[in-house]
Amino acid sequence: MTPTSPVIHPTVETHQIARNADLKEIDKFSEMAHRWWDPNSEFKPLHEINPLRLGWIDSIADLRGKQVVDIGCGGGILSESMARAGATVRGIDLSTKALKVADLHSLESGVAVTYEEIAAEALAARMPASFDVVTCMEMLEHVPDPASIVRACATLVRPGGHVFFSTINRNLKAYLLAVLGAEYVLNMLPRGTHDYDKFIKPAELARFARQAGLDLIELRGMVYRPLSQVYELSRDTDVNYMMALRRTA
Ligand code: SAH
Repeated sequence: MTPTSPVIHPTVETHQIARNADLKEIDKFSEMAHRWWDPNSEFKPLHEINPLRLGWIDSIADLRGKQVVDIGCGGGILSESMARAGATVRGIDLSTKALKVADLHSLESGVAVTYEEIAAEALAARMPASFDVVTCMEMLEHVPDPASIVRACATLVRPGGHVFFSTINRNLKAYLLAVLGAEYVLNMLPRGTHDYDKFIKPAELARFARQAGLDLIELRGMVYRPLSQVYELSRDTDVNYMMALRRTA
């Protein structure tokens, strides 16, 4: 047996600051975690968008040789792909099961990533200005106080470094496509995956970021084409979108 590189487990500080977590959300991801790397599971959309977001992040931040932290990394789809692209990656999440799956997968694939169960705010207190790149994808719409996560990301990145977010816009079209369409019509996602009230408008995210000392560089939509069943980068940010920001040097 290969010795496992164990997931680093929570410290007291995690539990103190993990107030900014919805335990129902964490449990939901834990329950599905064993299917994380099954490309036909409920995580199919994450597998499908991954090459797109990875390429976009790499085109802006040039991942080779960079220190990266992936916030809300889940089973590690993005974390591993950034490590493959040449970055040194740390992945953090609050779902013990997702982190176990991530760690096992990294052992199997031989792509090293350091996973840790810790809240973003707690890691920010411990490792300020330590990363060239911070990614936080498809996670903000699952937390009680997204602005606090944005501040933590801004603290984790070094001056001049990049921060990337992706989340879901809040409007009628997003409700129809991301909730009704994906969860009720296409059955792409389990019902209850997304809570419309927690969706975030790009202007709101940009405001959280500005207040945290991050400058907006690029806003990109990600559009699902149901007929060809592919995702594309787009100027249309009505539903899924990504934002690239930079901490003032
Ligand atoms: N970022 C990954 C996974 C997205 S799924 C990707 O895009 O591929 C959302 C993840 O956010 C889950 O793993 C869930 O456990 C995590 N999450 C939800 N609330 C969180 C919180 N408050 N702190 C850290 N992780 C959280």
